[in-house]
Amino acid sequence: GGFESLNLSSNVFRGVKRKGYRVPTPIQRKTMPLILSGADVVAMARTGSGKTAAFLIPMLERLRLHAPQSGARALILLKGLMRSFYKLSNERSGSCLSSSQFMELSSSTEQKNGGLVDEAPTCGGYLRISLLVGGDSMESQFEELAQSPDIIIATPGRLMHHLSEVDDMSLRTVEYVVFDEADCLFSMGFAEQLHQILTQLSENRQTLLFSATLPSALAEFAKAGLRDPQLVRL
Ligand code: AMP
Repeated sequence: GGFESLNLSSNVFRGVKRKGYRVPTPIQRKTMPLILSGADVVAMARTGSGKTAAFLIPMLERLRLHAPQSGARALILLKGLMRSFYKLSNERSGSCLSSSQFMELSSSTEQKNGGLVDEAPTCGGYLRISLLVGGDSMESQFEELAQSPDIIIATPGRLMHHLSEVDDMSLRTVEYVVFDEADCLFSMGFAEQLHQILTQLSENRQTLLFSATLPSALAEFAKAGLRDPQLVRL
């Protein structure tokens, strides 16, 4: 059950090694084969379990499967960003982020070892990422969105704000959706926005929900938003 058994493409596999990840964490071992197979997954996992890489490694692999298209292809919903993460994103605002920067951005702590992949599947070796989080100016986020990101990382409130302001913004092209720390999203009062976001997504998507706990409102949400999800708990 090591990373080699996942049949990752060579550049993603190299990136995993370069990150210094030798063996998958338990949550990675259980979720990654399911996600790579295309299944929807509800994973009970806490911060610190390696959950971020559990959805990012398969995401990079899944995005390689299809030819790059126009429109966002992955959507990661989270409760917000740590200050260091956020500052980094502002400095890089609007730029075409390399996948290694993406991996830095995707971790709540700053990474020392470089990126997960050295050659990303789209954007001429780069993945274009927009961070749509509350607190940042709408204007700079409009500019980022105008550059047609491959991946949108967003807080639910700010994403809905953009969807209501920008007429031609659509989530219909999104193939890969992650609700990260979903129980926190619910307890922070984002339930309404999350339900609205579901209505804007295509039926042909893969949906993942990571959460430390599974309160009944969240279980209901998973029922509405995920298709025959596999439940993974440690
Ligand atoms: P997370 O639970 O996503 O916040 O990740 C916690 C920490 O574990 C992060 O610093 C990751 O870089 C690190 N990590 C994730 N997967 C692995 C792995 N397979 N081996 C070693 N460290 C890992």
